[in-house]
Amino acid sequence: DAQREALLDAIENVAARLATEKSHLTELDSAIGDADHGANMDRGFAAVVEEVEGVDDASVAEITKTVGVTLVSTVGGASGPLYGGSIMSASGELEEGITAETAVAFAEAYLEKVQDRGDAQVGAKTMVDALTPAVHTFKKSIEQDDLDPLEALAKAVDAAERGARFTTPIRAKKGRASYLGWRSVGHRDPGATSTLFILETLLATAE
Ligand code: ADP
Ligand code: MG
Ligand code: MG
Repeated sequence: DAQREALLDAIENVAARLATEKSHLTELDSAIGDADHGANMDRGFAAVVEEVEGVDDASVAEITKTVGVTLVSTVGGASGPLYGGSIMSASGELEEGITAETAVAFAEAYLEKVQDRGDAQVGAKTMVDALTPAVHTFKKSIEQDDLDPLEALAKAVDAAERGARFTTPIRAKKGRASYLGWRSVGHRDPGATSTLFILETLLATAE
């Protein structure tokens, strides 16, 4: 099945990208957190790759759910339940496969879960700052501007890039970085950055 193969490729590429960015993400987290975000994401996605290796009869929804479950049990910290739990819940939107419509539904459900669980608004200096403009741009590009999913994803990546950059000059209001108060200003958020890397890799895989 072509969709399953594409999804497995994407997962492998994301794991490889996060392995490459491990020290970069850890450096960002060492400035305003506890210096483990790179290791957390790398450990989580390495476990995901092992878990999905050799699945040949699972649907894309089932594979996506496995990604979430595996992240929840291996990443820990704040980001494990946020990434993993939200992927897990949103995976139900892919039961009819991946289309422009189900991709939008998945993206929206994922964002909603991240916000439910983390209770962070845009501007709190978290992954939500990259994710929110990305999801809104993706949806608008498909539903209003009639772009194809690949073009929509490219626009979403641009939006995530601006969102991640915008975390640098602002003060953290959620997560460990918020303990620093104003001293968090001037540092880029690790989770917004890993969100951007994942979206960039999904785009590169789809191109
Ligand atoms: P921990 O902070 O527990 O060590 P990580 O370092 O893996 O976990 O992840 C930190 C990232 O999690 C932050 O950079 C931020 O983007 C994200 N984060 C933390 N708290 C929240 C929250 N309440 N809502 C959304 N994202 C959050
Ligand atoms: Mg950390
Ligand atoms: Mg930690």
